[in-house]
Amino acid sequence: MKAIKILKDRKLQVLKNGSDDHEIECDKSSLSGSVSQRACVFCGSRVVLYPIADAIHLVHGPIGCAVYTWDIRGSISSGPELHRLSFSTDLKENDVIYGGEKKLVAAIDDLVEKYKPNAVFVYATCIIGIIGDDVAAVCKKAAVKFNLPVIPVHSEGFKGTKKDGYKAACDAIFTLIGDVENHETEPLSINILGEFNLAGEAWKIREYYEKAGIKVCAVFTGDGRIDEIKNSHRAALNVVQCSGSMMNLAKMMEEKFNIPFLRVSYFGFEDTADALYKVAEHFGEKEIIHKMRELVKDEISEIYPQILNYREKLKGKKAAVYVGGAFKAFSLVTALRNLGIEVVLAGSQTGNKEDYVTLKKMCNEGTIIVDDSNPVELAEFAIQKEVDIFVGGVKERPIAMKMGIGFCDHNHERKIALAGFEGMLNFAKEVYETTMSPVWNHYQKRAWYE
Ligand code: SF4
Repeated sequence: MKAIKILKDRKLQVLKNGSDDHEIECDKSSLSGSVSQRACVFCGSRVVLYPIADAIHLVHGPIGCAVYTWDIRGSISSGPELHRLSFSTDLKENDVIYGGEKKLVAAIDDLVEKYKPNAVFVYATCIIGIIGDDVAAVCKKAAVKFNLPVIPVHSEGFKGTKKDGYKAACDAIFTLIGDVENHETEPLSINILGEFNLAGEAWKIREYYEKAGIKVCAVFTGDGRIDEIKNSHRAALNVVQCSGSMMNLAKMMEEKFNIPFLRVSYFGFEDTADALYKVAEHFGEKEIIHKMRELVKDEISEIYPQILNYREKLKGKKAAVYVGGAFKAFSLVTALRNLGIEVVLAGSQTGNKEDYVTLKKMCNEGTIIVDDSNPVELAEFAIQKEVDIFVGGVKERPIAMKMGIGFCDHNHERKIALAGFEGMLNFAKEVYETTMSPVWNHYQKRAWYE
């Protein structure tokens, strides 16, 4: 078997569970020469903020940066849909030489007048960091002029990793929180952090809590609204799902508003049940705990027989999992195991040391664990480990397809909810259909380099 091509300086970012005893190296910039699966800082901030549906999202930079649109990462709104529109200052050579501030002022003026948004987010891209436009000053002036939050997002692409983009987004959101007169805490209430409502998941999760008698003050940021965000400091608890993107905000809210937080996941029925129980137990009210138990019992008894049916057919299959945040990887390992599938390759773009310790404990011996990987590694490990299905995002799809491996998009482009109990059933169905598709009988697995 051909040796896997791992760049020398990436060797410690890869390990074979059970045989390699080094600690995985992570939380560092991508290595030059490795075509990282990670996106840029701006992209990190964009994915977190774009679902806020009643705000203008204005990308200050060349038009190419604005390619990350709603069409790439959909997020459903139950009301306004300003977030579906893409706005860019479309900087050209002259603007780079003479500065782009005038163009930015004109763009904000036009957009506010035309769309009457509840806020404007202005994203600084690479070139803005280079030419030195004072985005914060322009935003401050516009905010006074229109009596509206106009918020700079300091997301110059070269500034770090996608994780720094999450941080920039959290900083931007934080400027809004508490900007109201009423500061009274609502008892038995939560904020849901790190749920982006790609396919209606936020609505389902909100429904679980509301059925048990827990009020949801705000969702960050799926189907998000500026007013809800402003009032979110009145919640009694923050429940963080996508910890990679939202832990910063949870920590800042704990420090400033004294709101505790819990880290949970809604992928797979075990993790969903665990999340709902944890929140119910946090409030400690018998009635809420009882209602939550009943809800979980009803939901699981409905989906479990169907899960068993899929499990029977999928037993013994092998999976690769490569996702943005490590917390999602944990849930996927459990969810796939519940479907009879072993994860033999697992990794993330933004996991930290503790995340990888947990991932190691969860995975079987021999599983390859990778941090900030690239197409060559992922493809070659997938072939070596004889993977039947690859679960990842939009950038992993072509890798799987080219090699003749079934693929399940657990990220950007999907239109079917995979979170919650119903989501687990959708996931099982999708995994079954792609893994068992007869098309693979006509398209043999092949190595990346062939
Ligand atoms: S790396 Fe820079 S130029 Fe490229 S998309 Fe990100 S912000 Fe734009």
